[in-house]
Amino acid sequence: DNVLIQVKDLKKYFKVGRKAVLKAVDGVTFDIKKGETIGLVGESGCGKTTCGRTVMGLYKATGGEVIFDGVNVHHLKADEKKAFTRKSQIIFQDPYASLNPRMTVGDIVASGIDIHKIYTGKKRMDRIYELLNLVGLNKEHASRFPHEFSGGQRQRIGIARALAMEPQFIVCDEPISALDVSIQAQIVNLLIKLQREYGLTYLFIAHDLSMVRHISDRVGVMYLGNMVELTSSNELYKNPLHPYTSALMTAIPIADPKTARSINRVKLEGEVASPINPKPGCKFSSRCNYVKPECLTSTPKLLEVEKNHFVACHLFNEVQ
Ligand code: SF4
Repeated sequence: DNVLIQVKDLKKYFKVGRKAVLKAVDGVTFDIKKGETIGLVGESGCGKTTCGRTVMGLYKATGGEVIFDGVNVHHLKADEKKAFTRKSQIIFQDPYASLNPRMTVGDIVASGIDIHKIYTGKKRMDRIYELLNLVGLNKEHASRFPHEFSGGQRQRIGIARALAMEPQFIVCDEPISALDVSIQAQIVNLLIKLQREYGLTYLFIAHDLSMVRHISDRVGVMYLGNMVELTSSNELYKNPLHPYTSALMTAIPIADPKTARSINRVKLEGEVASPINPKPGCKFSSRCNYVKPECLTSTPKLLEVEKNHFVACHLFNEVQ
């Protein structure tokens, strides 16, 4: 079938001090189809970035598995690992921090090409120029340094570096969060254009729902290490089921007043539970307006409550 990546019950825990465990990703399951964009949203600390990095093998999973094109990403032999690192790339939130200030833009873009010894000499330079062109920069930029560029241009350099490997899959780790709103749309449009041209598959991580809607086919909402809702982008905006998703919706300005009325607008209040040694039950219960007794004792599972609409909340258990 056309599934590229299967994420099964993925866990990534970090030890804090001697005894405590931070459950950054605590049993997340979803798949990503070829050419699809999955948006991953949630507040900082929800585990979305850790999830993205574990999916692409930058972090070793504590539990569960990631199957990329039939291969388990966390059990690769050395030669498989090399091939995999080319197939799967990442674009970072802060392009400046991820670009070496002492390297020219050309050398940055070619860093993967050099590590994997793909091209040398004139072929290498031609490829650099081609990549700069693809992201809306040009030949002249190759000999310049990162500090000479604006935030949006630096993000374009980061994208060119990722594309150099001819990847199938790119984790976009909050690539627009640090940019002005006017520039955000340009970068999103560039990513969409590149996806169409090269059949790329994206995991697009963001902390709010506003831009994600324009690039994602499906959106997953994370809360303290769990996926609490997963459905198509349209369905999520029209019919958010999880109380946390509804609350996140209130953070986005809605242009259409009809939509604004139909959405159950809730304000986020209450303390965020700690991801360190979490208590049993629903982790959102400390902030939820609908909390019932069973929410405090049993953890809701992610269930398909409507076709292709998954939600983890006891309010929807009876639907099953
Ligand atoms: Fe609220 Fe309970 Fe649903 Fe958690 S399971 S979101 S506490 S209603």
